[in-house]
Amino acid sequence: MNSRQYCVFGNPIKQSRSPWIHQQFASQLNINIDYQARLAPEDGFADAFKSFVAAGGEGANVTAPFKEQAWQLCDSLSTTAKASGAVNTLYLERDKLCGDNTDGFGLVADLHRQQVQLIDAKILLLGAGGAARGVIPALLSENPKSLTIANRTASKAHNLQNHFSDSRILACGFDELQAGSFDVIINATSAGLAQQRPDVSSSIIGANTICYDMVYQAKPTGFMTWCHDHGASQCIDGLGMLVGQAAKSFSIWFGTMPDIDPVIEELRRLLIQGK
Ligand code: NDP
Repeated sequence: MNSRQYCVFGNPIKQSRSPWIHQQFASQLNINIDYQARLAPEDGFADAFKSFVAAGGEGANVTAPFKEQAWQLCDSLSTTAKASGAVNTLYLERDKLCGDNTDGFGLVADLHRQQVQLIDAKILLLGAGGAARGVIPALLSENPKSLTIANRTASKAHNLQNHFSDSRILACGFDELQAGSFDVIINATSAGLAQQRPDVSSSIIGANTICYDMVYQAKPTGFMTWCHDHGASQCIDGLGMLVGQAAKSFSIWFGTMPDIDPVIEELRRLLIQGK
């Protein structure tokens, strides 16, 4: 039987764990897939996706920097994708290209997995790029008390506030963050990829603050270590989010939700072994 073709598009993409993760899900559910990581030129995502479909591709994940371009390419969008303005999951339905965004599901599922309380929480989201945009609808649907978006470039945080137009959203630059701690701080910047951390005051961390870094690596990230050193009660990395968003994409394509926990455990083990 021919395998069903899926892939992830990004630039860069070599580092992607998505092929391995989707292969684990496919093995769990006895589905025969061929899932590849595909590098698309920065100005050539639409053509790359069309060639993939012409060669039999049925669906794809999309990562930086193509999530907004994928959004624009779609004929039909899920409610979450429509609200977030970014698509990370593409699939075909009666020749129409459909888009969804599963990043928010992945983040919230991981926060629930770690028993983080979001109802009535004061949440701080650092960053205003594609990842931040993608998770805002899911965070709002958890009924937080407030969601503050802070970004290095303050205008982009204000743009997101205007886009979502929800009275619980506040927006500011890093230097305008008021002293006083948050319940949950989520780092959705890409600063960690350059071995940096968002330049924010440690006064945002209190004894009960839980910090989440969307980036993950074998050891705690620089942001997690900084939060821990300034008294955060719990620091979590983005590995569970990565597996969770992939699982939701897989369920959109194949109609069945795979088991997330064993895949998180195995991926953590591989990371620690440097594989
Ligand atoms: P974008 O390029 O769209 O946005 C980057 C964001 O990071 C912007 O807000 C930018 O601020 C900020 N930033 C970059 N460098 C710095 C710095 N040195 N100091 C402070 N802020 C900085 O990227 P994405 O939103 O797509 O991705 C963000 C991160 O989230 C990435 O590291 C990505 O790997 C991770 N991610 C993890 C996922 C997971 O499943 N675990 C899923 C999706 C993303 P400015 O506007 O000022 O430039």
